[in-house]
Amino acid sequence: MVEELEPVLEEQACLLAWRHRLPVRIQGKLDEVVPREGELGTDRVLDLLGRLIPPRHEARTVVSRPAGPPLPVRPPVLCPGCPHRASFYAVKLAAGDRDAVFTGDIGCYTLGNAPPLEMVDTCLCMGASVSIAAGLARVEPGRPVVAFLGDSTFFHSGLSGLINASYNRARITLVVVDNRTTAMTGHQPHPGTGRTAMGATGRETDIVELARALGIGFVEVVDPCRLDQAVAVAQRAMAHDGPAVVVMRRECVAGRPRLISGWTTTGVRNVGFASRNWVVRPPPLGDA
Ligand code: SF4
Repeated sequence: MVEELEPVLEEQACLLAWRHRLPVRIQGKLDEVVPREGELGTDRVLDLLGRLIPPRHEARTVVSRPAGPPLPVRPPVLCPGCPHRASFYAVKLAAGDRDAVFTGDIGCYTLGNAPPLEMVDTCLCMGASVSIAAGLARVEPGRPVVAFLGDSTFFHSGLSGLINASYNRARITLVVVDNRTTAMTGHQPHPGTGRTAMGATGRETDIVELARALGIGFVEVVDPCRLDQAVAVAQRAMAHDGPAVVVMRRECVAGRPRLISGWTTTGVRNVGFASRNWVVRPPPLGDA
């Protein structure tokens, strides 16, 4: 069996074969015939199949294909219209010529590392943006340190770092890029969305209230796409003598239905992890 990632189907096939005493031999990742690491590209699969499936007829002449032109390098980028881009840009303007350090975290916004933004100087693990920032602020007290992490990462493991930063009066600015979802892994809800994992309405946990409850003296919310306001808030936060939290709140554009002129949405509902299930219908034929 040749399957991507873990040998889930292979395990089930083995179970079925054992249960029904089937006279079959199953080979795959469990017996290390198929490698578990690396990608299963075309060449690798062809090679595997050639070894796993015995030729029924005389070996055919393999006609080698001419190598095509090299594929263009396409690094991952933030979606067009992504609010994170605006958040990074606002902080970049607020920092100006100062030699600020920008600590990053795990999420779509890790892509802020690439030019022209270049706003992710460190990236270690979920929640590390705040902890690393607090450490750097202690080592280089005169240098502005801004940590970026998303709303879901905040609830996952950023909160503990923020408690530590608040308790130790770390002079950092934490920018929570709050896109109201867990975009990178498939738009799962989190405690800040007010929806449970099964789609039911839950009690929304407010990042602002949490930060204030920790004793943080500067906590503000701003829409990053209102650039002037966002820059001003970021400047005030970076000038604050102590830990500061700025929630840059704007919904992820990839979670919204694509409203094309003339098309209509006809349904909204929650299904398990899926926050919304929009049914988008084109205009009837002839109306276009
Ligand atoms: S999925 Fe959402 S948060 Fe992620 S890059 Fe696209 S717009 Fe930005």
